[in-house]
Order: sequence, then C-alpha cells, then structure tokens
Amino acid sequence: MIDLKNISVSRSTTLREALLVLNNTAIGLLLLLDANQQLDRTVTDGDIRRLLLDGAQLDDTLDKLAQISSLTISKSASRREALDLMNQHVINHLPVVDEDGKTVDLLDRREIDEQILLSTPHMGSTEREFVEEAFRTNWIAPLGPNVDAFENELAELVGSQHAAALSSGTAAIHLGLQLLGVGAGDKVFCSTLTFSASANPIVYQGAQPVFIDSDDVSWNMSPVALKRAFVAANREGWLPKAVIVVNLYGQSADMDTLQEICDEYDVPILEDAAESLGAYYKGRASGTMGKIGIYSFNGNKIITTSGGGMLVSDDAELVRRARFLATQARDPAPHYQHSVIGYNYRMSNILAGVGRGQLKVLKERVEARRAVFQAYQEAFSGVEGIRWMPEPEWSHSNRWLTTCTIDSSLGITSEELIKKLAQELIEARPVWKPMHLQPVFAHCAYFPHDETISIADDIFARGICLPSGSNMNAHHQDRVIETLKLALERG
Ligand SMILES: *Cc1c(COP(=O)(O)O)cnc(C)c1O
Repeated sequence: MIDLKNISVSRSTTLREALLVLNNTAIGLLLLLDANQQLDRTVTDGDIRRLLLDGAQLDDTLDKLAQISSLTISKSASRREALDLMNQHVINHLPVVDEDGKTVDLLDRREIDEQILLSTPHMGSTEREFVEEAFRTNWIAPLGPNVDAFENELAELVGSQHAAALSSGTAAIHLGLQLLGVGAGDKVFCSTLTFSASANPIVYQGAQPVFIDSDDVSWNMSPVALKRAFVAANREGWLPKAVIVVNLYGQSADMDTLQEICDEYDVPILEDAAESLGAYYKGRASGTMGKIGIYSFNGNKIITTSGGGMLVSDDAELVRRARFLATQARDPAPHYQHSVIGYNYRMSNILAGVGRGQLKVLKERVEARRAVFQAYQEAFSGVEGIRWMPEPEWSHSNRWLTTCTIDSSLGITSEELIKKLAQELIEARPVWKPMHLQPVFAHCAYFPHDETISIADDIFARGICLPSGSNMNAHHQDRVIETLKLALERG
C-alpha cells in the first residue's frame, strides 16, 4: 500500500518540490490536499509540465493549478465499481475518500484488477521437456511415445491394467457407453448431480438417461435411490444397459454399495471420475472400480492437458477396442476399409507430453487443494449454517473444488454470495444444476433419494463452489475469506 503522506502536497508546495516528490515516488500522481486535509484535486506530472510551458517558474506554487474536482471513489465501493470507473476514465489510480471527504487510500489498477478464479491450469516443471521432445523429434502427430507413456504412467498410478488416452473426458464416456453396448432405445442410469457431459453421451448413443439422486453422506449417487430405480425398472420388465456413477468435486461415490446393487442385476458401472483423479475410496483409486473408468484433463480439472481424457479398464479387449474406435475404426487391411462407424477421439502426442508432466505433480496438486479446503473450513469453523461437502471415512477426496451449502439462517443465499464475490472480482459458482432439472432432460425419469426428498435439488439450491486452485496463494485465499466474512456479516 502507498503511504499517502508521501504523495500529499498543498497549494503552497512549489513546482520544484512537487516534481521532486513525483520523481521520488514514481506513482505519477500527487494528492493536493486543502487545509482540512480534504482532497482539492489530483496532480500529475503532465499538469506541472503544462504550467511550466505556460510560463510558470519552478519556484511558483501549485496555487497556479485550476480548481477542478478530481475523480474519487467511496470506501464502501467494490473492486468492480472501482475498476469500471478506472476503465471509463482511462486512469490507473483512484483516490478513496471516507465519509468526511478525507483521502484514505489510493487504488492502483494493478492491484485492483487481480481476479481470483475458480480453478485454473497449474503447470509443473517438466511438461515443457516432454513437449519439446515431441518437437525435437517432429512427433507432433500422430500418436507417439508420449501417448504410450502417458497411458502407462497413468494406469500404473491409479492401479488399472489398461488405459487409452483420448481427446476429452466426454469422448471417453461416449466410447465407454459404446463399449458397454449402449445403443438406440436403451436406458442408462446416471447421477443427476453432475455436469451435462456425464449424460450427453447417453443421448449420442440414441439411448435415454434415467437420473438418480445423491445422498447427503457423499453428495454422490444415493444407493437408496439406485435400488428403487432398479426395483421399479425390473417390475416394468426392463433394465438399464449401464449405470454412470459420477464422483463429484473430487470425491468417490460409495462404490462397494453401488456395485453390490448393480451386481444383483448384472449391470456394469461406468465410473465418471473426470473430477476425481488422485482421490481414493477405501484405499483404491477413484475411477478404477467400475467396469470402465474415465478421467478428464480439461483446463479446469485437477491436472490438465489443456483438453483431453482417459479411459481405463482392467479388460484388455475393451481398451484395445476403445483405441480402435477412437482412430476411425480402420480394419487391418492395406486399403482404407471400415466395418463399423469410428470416431476421431485420440489424444495428440503433444498434449500427452503435457499430461506426463502433470501426472508427476498430481500428488502435490491434491495436497494443495486439500489445504485450500482446510483453510476455508478453519476460517469459518465458528459459523453455524455453512455445511462443507462431507468426506465419509471411506473417502480420501482430492477436494477438486471446495463446496458448501449456505443455510437460510445465515440471512443470505448462495446466489447473493456469488454476486457479492463477483463484485470483488472473485469467481464462485453454483453447484452443478441437476440433470433432471435441465430443460433438455425434462422428459427423463428421475429417482429421488426419498419419495418426498430430492437431495440434489437441495444441494443445488444452497450450494456454492469457492475458488480452489492449487496455484491460489494464501494472500488470494485470505481475500476470498475476508470478502465472504463481510458478506455474511452484512447479510
Ligand atoms: C469435466 C467433466 C466431464 C467432461 O470432461 P471433458 O474433458 O471436459 O470432456 C465429464 N464429467 C464430469 C463430471 C466433468 O466434471
């Protein structure tokens, strides 16, 4: 922060003194205060240069300056308001005045326009080497050593037998459903509380989603709701072709319990672990428990290749087939021959290089995100009415995003909180809007946790995701915490 005393002058200050102060402080701006210490106007070196060109002498005083009212902003203004004002007037500094008209601060654009985002890419130190190796060997395309190594390294890290690197998590889900035989007219059970990319591929396959609620123990698929859905389907004489279990915000679902129910009906699980790479369930890596698991390396995920995905399975034939379908399904013939419809879903050798570097820092990223969560939790430990996404004893979440619900007793809604944070250039988001509430899926069946209680609706209505990046420093997090505290106090 700037010491205002150092840049304050009066109308009796000489031009020479004013220039010296400007020179010494390098802010390019002086505050001209009147006898009551109130802001008369601001003075730039341009103002003094114009006085000199008009014939003023260095020993003349600033009294020669015209009376103009300078732009100021009140103490209670938000960062957004200050920045808008700076942009509107194309200035980089803005004096802050209190209720008595006293200047109490000078805002600097470089400090003001610092945004805090929800989750941004965080590169390690070796990604560049793998990418440079690809350039050096001109292995820009097609598939290549980085792709093979990335698959092997990820498979080993999570303890899966096989992995196929793909262009996105969505592509991995799409291929996964195809491999599980999901086709036109089929039904697929899918967690409702998730991002639309979990469910869209069901429709790509001409099948229909049936949405399943969360429980409030893990915020993930409710075994109670899943069981009711199976019983209802069975009674009607049909069964889903697959169940997509989503591991929300970095936390595994209760896989053993869900698996047991699915086994009863002999229906395979596709585990959407797009958000939960690096998380564990009873010591097993999230994403490795379903028949097929998928990860995403989209830009906002815990590690990123800027865009990409991975399909994992212990079934060698499934993964071989995934690679085949992902490369346009070319038959082994000397000419171009195709017996089935394929896709262009493979990851490039360049992006796989980024992925290899990112994999090396995954553990650190998980620790950093868990520390971010812990700092939030500790900062608000005395506040009743904030309920953090729980972590059951069988779960080791990667805490991809720190999420909580805001109780009505706090006198402010999650929506209002998100707006207040946005005013301070802090990005917070609502929790995923459940799929059964989406216009595009309005016609789909839905099984809530209880006939009368939909947990996902409640989490959506009151939920908020806070900035959680592994590259967020303590200063940034303090800013989020202080802004939240103020918003909660003011209600
Ligand atoms: C990000 C995400 C996806 C999609 O992954 P992309 O790589 O962006 O295609 C799927 N499911 C969930 C739960 C996600 O968060």
